[in-house]
Amino acid sequence: MPVKTEAGELRILLVEDVPEDAERVIAQILAAGMRASFQRVDEEGQLLAALQAFQPDVVLAELNMGAFSGFQALDIVRQAQPDVPFLFLSSTLGEDAAVAALQRGASDYILKHHPARLPSAVARAVRDARATGERQRVEGELMRAQRLESLSLLAAGLSHDLRNILQPLLIVPELLKVRTQDPQLLHMAEVIAECGRRGHEMAESMLSFVRGSPRPSERVKVHHLFEAVQLLLRGTLPRDVELQVETAGGALAVDGNYTELQQVLLNLALNALQAMPGGGTLTLRVDLGGLHHGRQWLVISVIDSGIGMDAPTLERLFSPFFTTKPDGTGLGLVSCKRIVESCGGRIAVTSAPGEGTRFDLHLPASEQAELPQPPIQPMAAGTGQSILVVDAEATRLSLLGNALSSQGYLLQLASDGAAALRAVEPADAMPALVILDGGAQLLTAGALLSELSQRGFRGAALLLCDEACMPPVEAPAGVSLHVLRKPLEMQQVFRSVAKALRTHG
Ligand code: ADP
Ligand code: MG
Repeated sequence: MPVKTEAGELRILLVEDVPEDAERVIAQILAAGMRASFQRVDEEGQLLAALQAFQPDVVLAELNMGAFSGFQALDIVRQAQPDVPFLFLSSTLGEDAAVAALQRGASDYILKHHPARLPSAVARAVRDARATGERQRVEGELMRAQRLESLSLLAAGLSHDLRNILQPLLIVPELLKVRTQDPQLLHMAEVIAECGRRGHEMAESMLSFVRGSPRPSERVKVHHLFEAVQLLLRGTLPRDVELQVETAGGALAVDGNYTELQQVLLNLALNALQAMPGGGTLTLRVDLGGLHHGRQWLVISVIDSGIGMDAPTLERLFSPFFTTKPDGTGLGLVSCKRIVESCGGRIAVTSAPGEGTRFDLHLPASEQAELPQPPIQPMAAGTGQSILVVDAEATRLSLLGNALSSQGYLLQLASDGAAALRAVEPADAMPALVILDGGAQLLTAGALLSELSQRGFRGAALLLCDEACMPPVEAPAGVSLHVLRKPLEMQQVFRSVAKALRTHG
C-alpha cells in the first residue's frame, strides 16, 4: 500500500472492505488527473492507526460493509479529526441514509454508479476544508488583536476613573498644609499626597503600557492594502461570493500604519462575508473624495450585498462589545474606528435591512513624497550630539539615559541642578541639548537654565512637564525652549529630542 507522499499530493484514506472496489475508486481518481496517495482500511483499529500515521486529507468510506459500518467509521473520524472531510460512497444510498449521513457530519455522499462525480467531489471537499481552516486562522488572529483592544479599553476606562478618584488625595493635603502648623498632621498630609501621586503614576503607566507606543505611520498605497486583503481572503471566500476590487489607477495612498489599516479592511471584509450567508458580492473600492481645508481626501469603501442592518443595530454599531452574532466579540468595528480616527479620518455607514451595507472610510490622502520610501523602522537619530539630562527621579533618569544613548547620542546624567552645573564646568563641555524635569524642587528648571545660559550654554532645552508644571514663559538668551508632556513615551521622546536639536542647530 503506497504511503509515501509527495508535496502537493492528496492523502486519501479509503474505508472499504472489498479490495476490488477500492482499486476501482483509486483508478477513477487517478484517471481524473489528481495526484494522490492512498491507504485502505476495513476495521476500527486500522482506521484509528491510519488517522494518526497517514494523516489523510480526506476519508472516503463505503457505507455498507460487512462487520464495520460506515456510520461507525464516520463517528470515529469526526471524533479523532473533526476537520478532515468525510465522504460516503455507496451503491445503494437512499435519500434517508444520505440525509442521515450529512446530519452526522459527512461532507458529501456519492453513488458509485455516478463515478464522474467522485474526483470533483473529493477535490471540493478538500478545498472547502482548507478554506474553513484558513478562515478560522484569520478570524483567530483578529480575535486576538481584538482582545488586546478590549484590554486597552478597559485600562483606559479604569485609568480615567482612578484619576478622578485620586484627585482629592492630591488636593486635600495641600489644603491641610495651609490650615495647620502641627508637624504630625503635616507629615500625614505628605504621606497622603505621596500615595495620591503614586496612584496617579500607576494609572498613567498602566494606560501607556497597554496602549503601547503608537505604531509608526507610513505612506500606504491603497492598492497594496487591497492586494493584501485579497490574499488573506483567498481560500476563505465562499464560492457563492464574488469579490470585486476597484482601484483608481493604483496611485492613491494614505498615511497610517500598514498593519493596522490592513486590519481595518480585513475586519470590514469579514463582517461583510458574515452578512452574506447566501452569497453575494463584496466590493472593495477607492475613490478620490473632496478637498477640505486644502487637503485631498480619499474614500475607501467596503460594500456588501448582504442582510443589511436595521436602525437599532446601526445606532449601536460602534459600541464596544455590541454584537448580533452568537460568537461575535463586538470589538471589530471599535478597533476600525480607533484606527481610522488615529489617521485623522472617519467612518460613514449606509445600510438597510435586506439591502446590503456600505462602509466608507474617509481618510486624508497622503502628502508624503512618493520617493524616497520612508524607512519603516525609525532609524537611530543621533549622531553623537551631547545631551545633559537633569532629573531627580532615578528610574526616569536612567531610563532616559539608556534609551537616548541607544539612539546614538552622548549622554551626561545629573540628579539635580548642582550636579548639572558641575557637569558643564569646563566651559567647552556644553551640551547641545538639556533635558530637565519641570517639577524640580531645589533649583527650578527656569533658574537652572539661566545659570547654564550665563555659563555660555547656547543650545536647546527640553522641559518634561506634567499638568501641574508651569513652563517658564521666556527662555534665557540663546536657548530654545521645548516642552514635552508627561507621562513620557519613548518614541515621543525620540521625536522631540530630534526636533529640538534640529530647530536649534
Ligand atoms: P462582531 O463582528 O464580532 O459582531 P463588529 O464590531 O465587527 O463585531 O460588528 C458589530 C455588529 O455590527 C455585528 O454583530 C453586526 O450586527 C453588525 N455589522 C457589522 N458589519 C455588518 C455588515 N457588513 N452587515 C450587516 N451587519 C453588520
Ligand atoms: Mg466583526
